[in-house]
Order: sequence, then structure tokens, then C-alpha cells
Amino acid sequence: MAVTIKSKREIDLMRESCRLLAKVHEELGKAIEPGISTLYIDQLGDKLIRGYGCIPNFLHYQGFPASICVSVNDEVVHGIPRKERILQEGDIVSLDCGLIYKGYHSDAARTHGVGRISPAAQKLIDETRNSFFEGIKYAKAGRHLFEISNAIDDYVSQFGYGIVEDLVGHGIGTSLHEDPQIPNFRQKRRGMKLRAGMTLAIEPMINMGRGDVEWLDDDWTVVTEDGSISAHYENTILVTDGEPEILTLL
Ligand code: MG
Ligand code: MG
Repeated sequence: MAVTIKSKREIDLMRESCRLLAKVHEELGKAIEPGISTLYIDQLGDKLIRGYGCIPNFLHYQGFPASICVSVNDEVVHGIPRKERILQEGDIVSLDCGLIYKGYHSDAARTHGVGRISPAAQKLIDETRNSFFEGIKYAKAGRHLFEISNAIDDYVSQFGYGIVEDLVGHGIGTSLHEDPQIPNFRQKRRGMKLRAGMTLAIEPMINMGRGDVEWLDDDWTVVTEDGSISAHYENTILVTDGEPEILTLL
């Protein structure tokens, strides 16, 4: 699929799609506490998305059975919500979701601590978020795509964390996943030149241990190979001639 440049009209629709998703994430974040099931988070998120008159774009995507990906501790992404999976004090939980507003997709992820968490877990969450902001310093018209990848890698590597290489960020628009792919690790080439009007989902997935991951037998849940915990931070952004616009932050 080709890289798309959004028109003024499309950008306005992307903005609204992303603004509503930011509100969903804000509500979901408030609901995180010990004792709730991962299925409850999915049901709440589905209700919020539909309450805005939107469609959850993860539901049935390539057969995914839920509206919110809920990934706990060593689960990196694509955790399937379950009634029996109860959040415990000290867990970290990554919520990844998106919605469709008038045909336009948004996509964002946050990792939350459940109750009191260890300082090391909090640091992993914080630095994963920070790495996103390091990356998007280069998300400007005229820069090259992999400057984003390299900046994320340079930032994360100083902490000895592992960067997940098997999953990457992506363009987004009338499809959830458009070109280009956006790795979170250093690239040999500099990648395509960025242009104003590109909308990109940039999403570092960072492990406390090594970056290697494997898939569980459900064919969805991605876990760290070494069992270390993992954090995820994602926003949909708009490339402009100046500073990038982060569309999924309120
Ligand atoms: Mg996502
Ligand atoms: Mg994404």
C-alpha cells in the first residue's frame, strides 16, 4: 500500500478520530485498579468508543476477538482480554486500541501501573514514553523516516532495555495499517523523506530485558522471550512543515 498524504479535509477527520481516542484512553486509564479483569477493560473501552458513535477498529481485525488489546507484564502487545485475568497490585498493563470516525482510523497505546508498582517498572514505562518524544523530534517535513527510528534506539539503549524489533509503527488513515513501516531500532538506510500531511502511528515497544519476543498458542499474544516486563507507548501524529502534531493527546 502506498504512503498517503492527507488533504486538509482528511486531516480534520483524523484529528477528530484521534481526539476521541485520546478521551477513550483517558477514561480507561482512570479505570485501572487491582481486582478488575482484562475483559472488563475491553468492555468499557468498547462501550466508550461506540458511545462516541465510532467503531472499534481492532475488533475482528484479522480475526482479533476484542476491541482493546490488554497486555499484562511480560505480554508486549495483542493480549486478548479474558474474564479470568485479574489485574494485581504491582502489575503493569498496556492498553492498545483505536477507532474509526467517518472512515478515518486512530491508534494509540499506553502502559499503566496497577496500584503501587516498583520504581524499576515505573522507569520502564516513563522511558518508553520518553523515547517516543525523542523519536518525533525528527517527524518533520524534509527529515528522513529512519531518523525517528535511530533517535528512539539511541535513547532507549542507554538504559540497557531491549527494543522489540518484530513489531513496528506504521502509517495510518483510511486503513489502520498503511505504509510506511516505522521500526523502533537503528536502520542502515535513512528511509523515505517525510512530507507534511503524513499521519503516522509511532509506537516504541520496550522490554526490561532482551528485545526478543514470541507468540503464544492463541496466535495473538506477543510475550517477551526472557519473561521480562514490557511497556508500550503509541500516538498517531501528523507530520507538518514545523513541529509534529500529536493527534491522540488531549
Ligand atoms: Mg496500537
Ligand atoms: Mg499501531
